[in-house]
Amino acid sequence: MKISLIDLYNVELPYSGGVYHLSGGRTYESFDASIVRITCDDGTEGWGESTPFGSTYIAAHSLGTRAGIAELAPALLGRDPRQTDRIADLMDSILIGHNHAKTALDVACWDAFGKSVGLPVCELLGGSTDVPLPMISSIHAGDPEEMRARVADHRARGYLGHSIKIGSLDREGGPALDAERITACLADRRPGEFFLADANGGMLPETALRMIQMLPSGLDFAIEAPCATWRETKSLRRRCPYPIVIDELAQLDADIALIAAEDIADGIGLKISKAGGLTPGRRHRDICRAAGLTVSVQDTVGSSIAFAAILQLGATVPERLLRSVLNCEDMVTLKTAQLDLQRIEGGVLPGGSPGLGITVDEDVLGDPDMTWGD
Ligand SMILES: [Mg+2]
Repeated sequence: MKISLIDLYNVELPYSGGVYHLSGGRTYESFDASIVRITCDDGTEGWGESTPFGSTYIAAHSLGTRAGIAELAPALLGRDPRQTDRIADLMDSILIGHNHAKTALDVACWDAFGKSVGLPVCELLGGSTDVPLPMISSIHAGDPEEMRARVADHRARGYLGHSIKIGSLDREGGPALDAERITACLADRRPGEFFLADANGGMLPETALRMIQMLPSGLDFAIEAPCATWRETKSLRRRCPYPIVIDELAQLDADIALIAAEDIADGIGLKISKAGGLTPGRRHRDICRAAGLTVSVQDTVGSSIAFAAILQLGATVPERLLRSVLNCEDMVTLKTAQLDLQRIEGGVLPGGSPGLGITVDEDVLGDPDMTWGD
């Protein structure tokens, strides 16, 4: 079984909530997706997606994703997609970094592998726990009461986790506004719900500590990605009474190992395109398990194809460690695939179809922008 053809599609995914506001005054209205199809010599197909969260989120952007895929794709022709570690090693030997570019190809290999043996990807990654995966909402930054209403809306739709975006600039309201946002969003908290206050690296130790001083006591939440650098995060860690989760800073195996070795945080946001695909994502899951770090399986953003990969990896994280999965499909208005999933009380699970469990709508994708192979 060899890869004989690789197609790259470019699709615009409008944000379902209008304008997405993030710390530091960043805004996003749509996302530029790169979707890959690999076709093998026996006719087996595999799909993968990589959709950066704009160009101001991490060191990844859509034009770079496509340039990276163009750099990597020719070398994958003739390779066996089932050798996922070897494919990942090959990609690392051709292109340093650029995890977001490697992701679409890596995930497509896992999809093809699963289809070739008639098993869902989660079974190849160690097996589904069969425990419903709690979904986490993404509550973009805004007026505190308006954010509280959006939490309630997601609660009504079955979400158990809520990621509240904070990190207001001083001219927008600063730490006082962030404290109000957290207080408002937790005001109607139900048993079993899980809250993250996510600054996406937008705070300094000083602003984070000022915000903490203004919070009422007894609020149950963790702070995610308070600061943009390791030094700032480690400084805050020593003085912060709340659990800390690392997201944007945790990209490499070595980053997760550093978090464990230096006790910098209590959990990670495992975004598949940030990690470089399901192959490194599986390693991050296992390092977290060894270190007792909680895991939220997510992606930067993405359509149904990205959500399918999240579900497959999320289903393999032991219940004790899994905080949530991100339903990124819900964040965009364009549906790129029909997804086989089970909606169960308390969450979702992959439906049991082979590979990623998706049927891609090729009409939505249009013609490929680039093709390699025969
Ligand atoms: Mg985050």
